[in-house]
Amino acid sequence: MSNHLARVDGTRVLADLHALRAIGTYKTGVHKPTFSEPHLRSLQWLVQRLPEAGLTGEIDGIGNVVGTSTKAGPRLLAGSHLESQNHAGWLDGPLGVVYALEAARVINPDPNTNGAVEVAAWCDEEGHFGHFLGSRSYVGGVTEADIDAARDRSNDRSMRDALRDAGLAGRARARCERGRHIGYLEAHIEQGETLESSALKIGVVTSIVGIWQYRITFTGEQNHAGTTRMAVRKDAGLALARFCVDIDDRFPVTCGPRTVWTTGRITLDPGAPSIIPGGAEMLFQIRDDDPAVIERLEDLLRSMAAEVDKQGRCRVAVERIRTGTPALMDGSFQQAIEAASAALAGGKSLRMPSGAGHDAQVLATVMPSGMLFVPSIGGISHHWTENTADADIVTGAEVFVEACRKLLTR
Ligand SMILES: [Zn+2]
Repeated sequence: MSNHLARVDGTRVLADLHALRAIGTYKTGVHKPTFSEPHLRSLQWLVQRLPEAGLTGEIDGIGNVVGTSTKAGPRLLAGSHLESQNHAGWLDGPLGVVYALEAARVINPDPNTNGAVEVAAWCDEEGHFGHFLGSRSYVGGVTEADIDAARDRSNDRSMRDALRDAGLAGRARARCERGRHIGYLEAHIEQGETLESSALKIGVVTSIVGIWQYRITFTGEQNHAGTTRMAVRKDAGLALARFCVDIDDRFPVTCGPRTVWTTGRITLDPGAPSIIPGGAEMLFQIRDDDPAVIERLEDLLRSMAAEVDKQGRCRVAVERIRTGTPALMDGSFQQAIEAASAALAGGKSLRMPSGAGHDAQVLATVMPSGMLFVPSIGGISHHWTENTADADIVTGAEVFVEACRKLLTR
């Protein structure tokens, strides 16, 4: 028996990640919006690496790269994304792509391991143009009309123009073949501080949370900020502020152990210093992996709104504008990651949900899927200081490759 574990080349993994960091560098991170020149160059870089793993592939008609193998036996799909948020970190995305590439380089040429790892880079996971457009295209969830409608949120460039400028217009889009893969495995930085604060090395993702979003509108009475007595005001802004504080007081009693909620945007109408706001609106988000918890919280939100209504000063309307579907990660994938961590990371792993969205939630709609996290220093991500210790990156790669091998040979 050859020793597969010894063949993960930590130096090669780090060198690849640094090569991708050198394309579109911004301070110690990167700036690689979807279809920017550095993003396209990163995709080309991956295409050029694929033959090292016995894979062939090219950039498809929506900016995905899917490297395929002709080796006999089961096939496991693995990957992540290569574009970044604006002025963001170097590991969010590339870590998972490089781990997948390393797994393919180790496993595919190995005659003792049946089957192959196929490598994917999903386009626009970071949502410059839409919502998981690349992975959704692969599973058949994106129409030509969706592409017609997609525009870059930073500069309003249409996706059609971006595809044409990248030379990708008219290319076919890679599509998932039913039954081709035993499943999908993705590695990612945690982007939180759970692992670091517990001195753990591997997160075994149990589920990816769903996101529910609400528009909560307060209607009062616009009036003069100098002449209107306090006792008779109908200040929609004040009602909104009180409501926010009330949420923070009352949600903890009803929420689940990992529920998070955020008021991400507040607007006052008309929003002038000398005018009592007659209208106020907040965009409010709840994330959890249990729809029953969300149902309880939504009931609470609506009853709180009814209470404000009853007091009579302002009217409140709660409108759900986005409904999330939590994605459950496959149990056998969780076991494989956990067993690999026991062998190679001293068992320092933790089962945990992902509070961030990932392509694995899209792939999970068509095949068994799993995710592995490595620690983020200080829990920081979506910022150019995002980082992970080299030793943790290498440990993560070893666990990832071993998990792939276990899944292919079970
Ligand atoms: Zn990411």
